[in-house]
Amino acid sequence: MLAELLTVDVRTVLLVLSLGNLATAGLLRLYSKAPSDAPERRFVQSKLILGAGWLLLTLRGQIPDFASITLGDGLTAAGFWLEAACIREMDRRTGPMPHCWRSLTFFCLAAILVHQLLPQANLRIVVYSFGMAILFLISCLRLLRGGEQPRTALRTALGAVYGAVAAGGLWRGVAALSENDMTLLSTAGTVNAAYLPLYLLMIAGSFGLLLLFKERDDTLLARMATRDELTGAPNRRALIEMAARLVARAGREGRELAVLMLDIDHFKLVNDTFGHAQGDAVLRDFAGVIQASLREYDVYGRFGGEEFVAVLPDTRERDALNVAERIREAVAASTPAGAPGVRYTASVGVACGVPEPEGLDIMLRFADEAMYAAKRDGRNQVRVAVMPPPAQRGTNGSRRAGEAMAHD
Ligand code: GH3
Ligand code: MG
Ligand code: MG
Repeated sequence: MLAELLTVDVRTVLLVLSLGNLATAGLLRLYSKAPSDAPERRFVQSKLILGAGWLLLTLRGQIPDFASITLGDGLTAAGFWLEAACIREMDRRTGPMPHCWRSLTFFCLAAILVHQLLPQANLRIVVYSFGMAILFLISCLRLLRGGEQPRTALRTALGAVYGAVAAGGLWRGVAALSENDMTLLSTAGTVNAAYLPLYLLMIAGSFGLLLLFKERDDTLLARMATRDELTGAPNRRALIEMAARLVARAGREGRELAVLMLDIDHFKLVNDTFGHAQGDAVLRDFAGVIQASLREYDVYGRFGGEEFVAVLPDTRERDALNVAERIREAVAASTPAGAPGVRYTASVGVACGVPEPEGLDIMLRFADEAMYAAKRDGRNQVRVAVMPPPAQRGTNGSRRAGEAMAHD
């Protein structure tokens, strides 16, 4: 029963593979947003070449063997090679993308050479099957390991398909070693079932890889929407979102939380004296120092200009002051990469207390007032504004800037 199920008609499978790849290439070519130099373009070419290669192999016996077998082998090998290159490129590995025409020429010449050296069809099948199996195995490992991209369920599933096709190739190669009269279309029992994973690969290698491209672009877009480009820190929007969540939770659970407002002193002077590029380097350094001083579950971000905010959940005043002081000292001692001659300082305002669930704005206002008190007191200082009980806070915050307490 199983053997019967696995005995497939190779010519039909090849025709389906050809049509599937050509249709994918055609649809992708019509997609107006396809960039001309990205791996997506090479991806279209790989589908086109695979579609043409499978078609030549389908026409076995109807057209000259040179076109059907030799060029068919060359084209499909070149198509798989380009597809593997797209997977490599997606991981942003260094190294140039293989050139389409050069790959095509190389694999067609290689196929001609193999046909000259190995007149026995089964040995050619061994070479082709093992060669492609190695290529699929590389893609499989690349997808499973993840490279620079985060490991996702989609990558794992696609990796598994490439692994299955590699196994199918090896199986066919081993079977061909002992089958002297094996040819492309021979129905050597269940061994033709090795073609079935190729159908899976056509889906995984087109729809699956497209989803992978999309997954990568979505991650990139999400990063662009939430990160400050200059410093790599969360931008204002992301910061407010994360901070509001922490404040809401602290408010609901009646836990203390600290907000730090951090501002570089006389930053305009840094720009005017050393230039904007060195000013940028100082900003990057400032972000790095703040991040390095925080715990994993604290959040921070660029609030605007040279002003950063950090939110520390479950933190009492004494601990918040320690963190602020540590940052102030680290900033004063820092040598910014890219601006090694520049020394700079920062003023920090701290607001502490049990917030109201919607109380982020008030916490920020208190921290801001404390920060301006630090500026007024000579800069390179930490000042704290202890939050009064929620009932006395009012909407504007009851404590004025002048009430911020000194911290030495
Ligand atoms: P204070 O000690 O009172 O905070 O003085 P300050 O000079 O730091 O503050 P001020 O608000 O007068 O100047 C802020 C400067 O920050 C002015 C602006 O050009 C600069 N700045 C804002 N964003 C950037 C940036 O992305 N890169 C650079 N290089 N400078 C920036
Ligand atoms: Mg400043
Ligand atoms: Mg400022």
